[in-house]
This record gives sequence, structure tokens and C-alpha cells, in this order.
Amino acid sequence: MKMRIDEYIEKVQNGKVDMVLKTKKVLAEIKKINKEYHYFNVICEDLALEQAKTLKKNAKSKRLAGLFISVKDCINVKDVESTAGSRILKGYKPLFNATAVQRVIDEGAIIIGKTSQDEFGFGSFATNVGLGYKTPLNPVDKKRVCGGSSGGSGGISKLASFEHVSLGESTGGSIVAPASFCGVIGFCPTYGRVSRYGLIDYGNSLDKIGAMGTNPEAVALVQEVISGHDQKDSTSLEVPTVDYAEYLEKSIKGFKIGVIEESMGKGVDVQVMEALNQTIKKLEFIGAKVKKISLKQITDYAVPTYYILATTEASTNLAKYCGMRYGAHEKLEGSFNDYFSTVRSKHLGEEAKRRIMLGSFARMAGYRDAYYIKAQQSRQLMVKEYQKAFKDYDLLLCPTMPVIPPTFNEAKKLTPLQNYMMDVMTAGPNLAGLPHASIPLIEHKGLPIGMMFIADQLKEEKLFQLIGALQQDEVQN
Ligand code: GLN
Repeated sequence: MKMRIDEYIEKVQNGKVDMVLKTKKVLAEIKKINKEYHYFNVICEDLALEQAKTLKKNAKSKRLAGLFISVKDCINVKDVESTAGSRILKGYKPLFNATAVQRVIDEGAIIIGKTSQDEFGFGSFATNVGLGYKTPLNPVDKKRVCGGSSGGSGGISKLASFEHVSLGESTGGSIVAPASFCGVIGFCPTYGRVSRYGLIDYGNSLDKIGAMGTNPEAVALVQEVISGHDQKDSTSLEVPTVDYAEYLEKSIKGFKIGVIEESMGKGVDVQVMEALNQTIKKLEFIGAKVKKISLKQITDYAVPTYYILATTEASTNLAKYCGMRYGAHEKLEGSFNDYFSTVRSKHLGEEAKRRIMLGSFARMAGYRDAYYIKAQQSRQLMVKEYQKAFKDYDLLLCPTMPVIPPTFNEAKKLTPLQNYMMDVMTAGPNLAGLPHASIPLIEHKGLPIGMMFIADQLKEEKLFQLIGALQQDEVQN
């Protein structure tokens, strides 16, 4: 049984929980879950036990004392294999912690492992895992996908019986997509709010680290702790941090919420549409004013714009894994080009190769203006469309995913383009760097359906305000 998170942390701070014993139990539990569901690429037993022991001496005043944290594989944990789910990085043990990881450790959290993901974050279902890795299974139905790319983080967040939050990463939707399919909260902050130092890059202008979990207080606390300026990341924003947990208590009476009209139409599963309509009723019941808003530019162009920019950035980032400096090496043979091709052919999965080709094409001389530059312009137009919307609305709403979690068989039949279309709702806020969250409000025959709320730049607290208000409504019902 989990207790209230503030009560739990206070107990740990006062030395009333035997943390070594508790950590041993947690490790046994996740090992068991992992055998069945494949949520971890690494379980860091020694590190967790060492941290539990230190906590015995210095838990007082640590804001996350005793909270268990799993970390997406692309976020560096010192001395623990961190591969972003790719065989090309097999054996890589970073010499330093990512800033987000360091911050939670400094506040007394215990790191339990590296969660499974699509290779380098390339996917929406967590089925594009790197060569030799296992695919995570949906926690409520093992025949279905977890959502991706932070699939392991979503799954373990749902099944953990202990006080837990996961650190996920989103480039184009990888926090909210698995949160929606696994039935947990997924929180993605404003771009620059959380330092990217120590994050293995996918697309530098898009990557964000955020918290996932079932407990709103724990998610709010972790999100606050990992936020804040960091000198080691030049894109990190110099803005004060906010006590998000405080906002969980505030009412949202009078909040204006815009439902994105284009998300209510073609290509959206009927169950998802029903869930959206129920959500609207719920919001009105708790005092929000809900109106439809059209965001045509964003809905029409977000996916193509995102896939040009994300693959362009990814293809340059992956250039460093060439078998000379970083990652896997092979026997030096032939010309440099032959050698690079050998290394990459052998160690990268199919989707990673596809993205390198797409991205290299979009930024090649002769095509750059038509694709990369055009996509940059389109991104600016989207930012403007959001800015206009936020003049009238506190939050925007749409379903997180257009579909209920597909079975592995259904997912396998999709073409790459159909796969990319899964990001139709999530690509927009990610391109504009806006904070957004998926909230598990509705289920269809036990399958979770997440609803996504988007806030204006640096207005994360409004999302927590809404999460809190909805939770209080659940309690009342
Ligand atoms: N589905 C998107 C992609 O494949 C998002 C991935 C992510 O956010 N890491 O690029």
C-alpha cells in the first residue's frame, strides 16, 4: 500500500522507514516485473542499495527522501550503462550524471534502473528497440504496445506498488504517448526549463526531460526539483522555479479551455472521441469554460514539419557514432566510408537507419531550402498560432493519441508514414516548446486513454492546477 507522498517522505526524513530493507523489496519487485514486461535495460541494484544506506545518515531536509526513480535509458546515470536503447552504445558507462539525475539524487531519491525505449527515441510505440533489446509490453494488456518512446518509464510507473516516479524524455511526444497508453501522468515541461546536460541527444532543439508517474504530488515535486537554470546547458532558461505541488490544491473555476477542433474529426478512434467528450463534461462540471478552437496550421503541418526537423537533427547527432570515437568499433578495414558503413549497418536498427537517410536528405545542398528551411518557417507559423490561442485560453485540450493502444500485430502492419501520423496531436506542442501533460482520465474496457492539455510557455503550474482539480473531482465521485 502506498501512503500519501508527503507523509512517506516525512517518515523517511525522520528515519522511520528502514530504507535498505525497503529498497531490497523494491528491487525484488522490479526484477519480477521486468521478467514479464521488459521495462528495464538495466536494474542498478548496487547503486540503489548504496543510496539507501547513505540516506540513513542524511535524509533530514531532503525533499525527495526515499522516492524511487527510474530513468529513461537516454539520460545519463554515472557508472551505469546508458545506451539510449541502442546497441551502438553498448557498454557505455557515463562518467557523470545528467543534471536532472544529479538533482534528484541530491534531494535523497534512489535510482533503481534505466528504462527501455525506442532506439534513440525513434518511435511512438516503443517497438523500435535497438538490436538485442526487449520490447516493453503494455501493463494492462501484454498483447498491446506500451507507447513510446519512453515505454519502459510508462509501464513501470503503472505497475510499481511503491513510491515511484520515472524520468522520461520527449522530442515529439515520447512522454505523453506512453503515459496515455499505460494510464499514468506524463509531464513535459517548456523547452529549456529542465537542463539537457547529460541527455543523449535526439534533436537538440526539441529534447526535454519530464516526470511520469501515478501520484500527482510526486510528479509535481520531481518536476520542480529537476527544473531550474544550469550553466552546463546553453539553452537552459534563467527563470525561477515554481512550487508546483502548491498548485495542485487550487481550483480551476473560470479557467478557459480550448478544445482543438481538428482533433475531433477524421482518423480518431470512436473510443477516443467518446473519452474526449466525457472529459469536456468533467471539465465543465468542475468549473472550467470549454470552447472549441481551430488550430489548422498546427494540425495540418505539425507532423511533416516535425519529421523534417527531428530527423535532420538526429542525423547530425548520430554522425558521431561512426566507430572511431564513440560507440561500437569494428575491425579497421577498407576506406573510411566502408568502415563507417560496416559499423552502422551492424549496430543500428532499421528505424535509426531510415531517420539518418531522411535527415541527411532534408539538409543536403540542393534540398535544404525546400525541406529544412521550409520546416523552420512552418515551425515559426505554428508558434504564432499558439501565441494567438493563448491570448484567449488558459489551456488547450485534445486526446494525446488518436488511437487506443494497438496490439503488436496491429502496430506491425502500419507503414512508417502511418507510424509518424500517431504524433499528430503531440508534435505541435513539442515543436513550439510548450509544456503539456497527458492525464489518465478515461478507460475503455480497461484500456487507458490519456487526454493532453497544453499550456503557454513557462505556465506549467496551470497544468498542475488542472491535474489537482481533476483529482479532487475523482475523490468526490
Ligand atoms: N514519435 C516521435 C518520434 O518518433 C517522438 C519521439 C520522441 O519524443 N523521442 O520521433
